[in-house]
Amino acid sequence: MPEPEKNAPTGPDPAPARGEEVSEEVTPEEQLRELIRLRAMCDVSRAVAGTLDLDRLLNLVVAKTTEVMEADRSSLFLIDWDTEELWSKVAQGVRYMEIRFPMDLGLAGAVATSGEVLNIPDAYEDERFNREVDKRTGYRTRSVLAVPMNDKAGERIGVMQVLNKRGDEEFTSEDEELLKSLAGQAAIAVENAQLYEEQKKSFISFVETLTTAMDARDPITAGHSKRVTDYSVALAEELGYSEKQLEILNAAALMHDIGKIGVPEVVLFKDGKLDDEEYKIIQSHARHTLNILEKINFDREKREIPKMAACHHERLDGEGYPLGLAGDEIPEAGRVLAIGDIFDAITSQRHYRDRMEFERVLRVLDEESKGHIEPEFVRAFKNLTVSRVVLIMEQDNVEPVEGEDLELFENITLLELQEPLEQEEPLTDEEDHLIERFNYYYHRSISDGWVPD
Ligand code: FE
Repeated sequence: MPEPEKNAPTGPDPAPARGEEVSEEVTPEEQLRELIRLRAMCDVSRAVAGTLDLDRLLNLVVAKTTEVMEADRSSLFLIDWDTEELWSKVAQGVRYMEIRFPMDLGLAGAVATSGEVLNIPDAYEDERFNREVDKRTGYRTRSVLAVPMNDKAGERIGVMQVLNKRGDEEFTSEDEELLKSLAGQAAIAVENAQLYEEQKKSFISFVETLTTAMDARDPITAGHSKRVTDYSVALAEELGYSEKQLEILNAAALMHDIGKIGVPEVVLFKDGKLDDEEYKIIQSHARHTLNILEKINFDREKREIPKMAACHHERLDGEGYPLGLAGDEIPEAGRVLAIGDIFDAITSQRHYRDRMEFERVLRVLDEESKGHIEPEFVRAFKNLTVSRVVLIMEQDNVEPVEGEDLELFENITLLELQEPLEQEEPLTDEEDHLIERFNYYYHRSISDGWVPD
């Protein structure tokens, strides 16, 4: 009898083409389940990569976990190693509440301390389970699966826990693997967010260090920098800047005069008139600001800060310094700063001169819009409420503006104040009152005994 050819059909029951595939038959239900799990992992990974809002992210991870684990509830606890506590802001069923408990308490605590996975069919059979929580919430915990969360360095940072597998079933070893993956993603999210937070903090402390150094040398500039920053941020808000843009402008504004560090004290603190040479030396501060800040390694989004800060003395007509830029060549933030800078310069008191009468202040801004500062920004600036501006002016005052006066100022913009200020004909009682109250605050730090007439 001739031997059958290889691969030829061998009779009524066909041999499997590839043996392995048949031994584990996958039902459509299982395939669907696998797909759902895969998709959930993708959703979670994407969220982890795409957002830095930790609270929102963890809420999403917890919700997805409950769904794909076919559990009733999930919680995520972070370890606070300083206090040896577990804490959570996300726990389904107990919303919007921060929970804290000693890290050796309950099943989550057992995982936090040992780093082992716990898969328990009935929590009430396990003596480590803390029944207090159920008693308080009226919940009945049955099956529990809890896994540790580790960071990249292998340090334990939290615990993820799912409760009550649906249909009174137990969590499987497959569930364990899935929860470990989800916990891994959550750990990355926590680490990213903490890193980002820390970066932000070190940036802020860096700006503070620089400005403190500058303030220590020149207290006049100190108050000035803070007020210029606040005026500029107020204007930028009026212009619709985003949170991120405001943060960058804020930093640039705080450091705009940092270059005064490079101006010799004999010139910087000279009483009386400066000669041309001295004036040039004073002006060099803007160039110094640029040079100093350019030495700093800002990340991409903050890379414009040196130029923004340095361009606060540029003019639209190109006659400014240090770069002599014109119009749109001047970074927008620089044009915003220019307005905050001028406004503070003319509204503040110096030992050698009084502050300018306020009606002149607003006129100066109008005049400077012809060639010097951005007219559109001046208009936006005048849309600020009087209260906003007075609060910035008065920020160092021990008796801040409040009560009726503040309320009065809240409903009036600078533009609306300008009209009665410039008016020749007699004012209404209301206008008269407004101007009297405004001038009281505007001038009150000139001398203690100043009384409005
Ligand atoms: Fe300056």
